[in-house]
Amino acid sequence: MTKLKMDVAKEFEQILKKYGRDVLFLRTDRKLYCECYNEVTQEASRECPVCLGLGWSYIAERQTVKSETSMAAVQLPNVLKGVSIGDIATAARKYFVLPSVQAKEKDLIVEVGWDDAGRPYYNNNGMWNITYVDKSQFLGDQEIFRICYVNEAVVRTKIRGIRIAEINGVKQYSILMEE
Ligand SMILES: [Zn+2]
Repeated sequence: MTKLKMDVAKEFEQILKKYGRDVLFLRTDRKLYCECYNEVTQEASRECPVCLGLGWSYIAERQTVKSETSMAAVQLPNVLKGVSIGDIATAARKYFVLPSVQAKEKDLIVEVGWDDAGRPYYNNNGMWNITYVDKSQFLGDQEIFRICYVNEAVVRTKIRGIRIAEINGVKQYSILMEE
């Protein structure tokens, strides 16, 4: 029995690897101040080439997802518990992710392309606003995957750039947005 559970989780991982694509998950509570930002005066350097004078960026995580357009509310009995119908009815799309993905309401999913060197670039495929995270996809006591329901973000903000830094061999992405 235990083995079967493990296989299903692995299978989902394989499906993601084969059919998924990589996007950036942006935790909106992880605002990072730029080195040029002066906490006393609360000002950034206008000429800063790193943050373009914004003074901050958002840390983003690269994750593999599989997405599809949401089905009608009637086909989603699990998520109806504890969520208003309105939210689901307007959900534009859902993303399937690994259980390890720490995403919550109001976080953003940024659709990006990847160049030959593995660097992300914004391809105008939208920023998506997470409205609900379904964590009920269990088999026995093992979570197999999570579903993030999203709406297209009302984007008054514009992405100005995506930066990559490598810290101790771990790639970190930060996104510069106009506010
Ligand atoms: Zn700066």
